[in-house]
Amino acid sequence: MVSSLIRGKYVVTRVIDDNASEIIPDGAIFQRDGEIVEVGSFANLKARYTSDEVIGSGNHVVMPGLVNAHHHVGLTPFQLGNLDLALEPWIVVRSMNRDVDNYLDALYCAIQMIESGITTVMHNHATWRKPQGMTFQEAGGQVLKAYQDSGMRVAFSFSHRDQNQVVYQEDERFLATLPAELASKISARLQNSKIPTEDYLALFSDINAKFGQDPRIRIFLSPGNVQWCSDPFLEAVKEFAGRHHTGIHIHLQESVYQKMYGLRQWGKTPLAHLQDLGFPGPEVSCAHGVWLTESDIDTMAETGTMVCHNASSNLRLKSGIAPFNRMAAKGITVAIGIDEAGLNDDNDILQEMRLVQKVHREPGVASPFPTSHQVLHMATVNGAKATFFADAVGTLEKGKRADLIMLNLDHITEPYLDANTNIVDAVLYRGRGLDVDTVIVDGEVLMRGRQLTKVNKGEVWAELKDQLSRELMPHELERIEVAQQLFPHVQRFYQQWHLEKGVPHYLYNQAE
Ligand SMILES: [Zn+2]
Repeated sequence: MVSSLIRGKYVVTRVIDDNASEIIPDGAIFQRDGEIVEVGSFANLKARYTSDEVIGSGNHVVMPGLVNAHHHVGLTPFQLGNLDLALEPWIVVRSMNRDVDNYLDALYCAIQMIESGITTVMHNHATWRKPQGMTFQEAGGQVLKAYQDSGMRVAFSFSHRDQNQVVYQEDERFLATLPAELASKISARLQNSKIPTEDYLALFSDINAKFGQDPRIRIFLSPGNVQWCSDPFLEAVKEFAGRHHTGIHIHLQESVYQKMYGLRQWGKTPLAHLQDLGFPGPEVSCAHGVWLTESDIDTMAETGTMVCHNASSNLRLKSGIAPFNRMAAKGITVAIGIDEAGLNDDNDILQEMRLVQKVHREPGVASPFPTSHQVLHMATVNGAKATFFADAVGTLEKGKRADLIMLNLDHITEPYLDANTNIVDAVLYRGRGLDVDTVIVDGEVLMRGRQLTKVNKGEVWAELKDQLSRELMPHELERIEVAQQLFPHVQRFYQQWHLEKGVPHYLYNQAE
């Protein structure tokens, strides 16, 4: 039996509504074997329980661990040499870069996330990130092993495409427009990540059998996006997820081109097409949702489908601003993701939360805007719902798992902060990843005094530097060169799509 008493000047146990959170001054949490036994005042709990240790001080704020509800990799595309572009050409170029070790990359990712207060992540692993000669099972296993070693909770899925893999058009048709040599190289590359539907579902079963018993792991299914998946594949995934009681994570209407693809292909938005297939539902979380129409937002609300909002990524990749205020008004569950494209390129979720809070502040004294409590709710309870951990985490209350973080208040409240300031506002306005002092998952300390306890950060950094300082192999150089050759063709393809004018959800400014 391992127990601890975790104390803070403030203990934020849960968000009550858009304007309030439950905050215990000079509070504490008593946890035993990872389960929260009681939450209350420090003096009271200290008198009534004997614990193995007391963690924290009167200079910390204790909060539920944060959830990054949409993510893919550790080393960012920028770190690997790719500047931000519009989503579609960016994906092509970034997916044809140098090889990176999946285990080390995921461990690097986990370390950065733990350091910014993230205890749970939705890790969506692209099928193209499978090294040649390795099975998908092995590639996924490397990522999950890294998360196990880090101690984080993870909802893992393989993101899969079975059509339109280069641009939003049948691969054969697009390849026919390319010079023959380039087309054959791309064609060979597409073969490497090809998986028949039965094999994709079997892959879920294999990985779930190996890792699904770990209480910190959930295995999801993930059709990459509507334009990337055939109807039979989408239907098979929906049916399979229902039978296995698991979640589905999908990208949806991230860019204007994705919405336009739906209008061209089906005469309706991709979500309306998904609705025709009976796909939306409470087990489905959709990353982005930037280009949802009013009618799409109604569909999301009626079906209980969730959204994982990625504000930084959408700004960086010229995707736009998701209509969060409209979604919130309809009661949609919206979580927050970094999508490895945070504003500072560093996976700091407190910064991402701050951007979410600021970017939806439309002009006008009466316009709605997300409050600090609302954003904290998105990054805790809503993230827990999207990752299927809602029964275990998201709030600090009796019976839940002890997943929590402690922030040092020095930077946030010193040298002065008005005494009437709500501590949740203070964290949202001024907190940074660097202020996170201690991170606990299942009662287990993953970081204390900013020192990681389960992984040796110095060794991971050294190993990464060592691996990445080697000369690129001929197959990597060739792949990067092929990406450069392909890039102008992809640009030209989308330049032929004429962006239509529509009514914006938000009115930020006007030309006249
Ligand atoms: Zn994504």
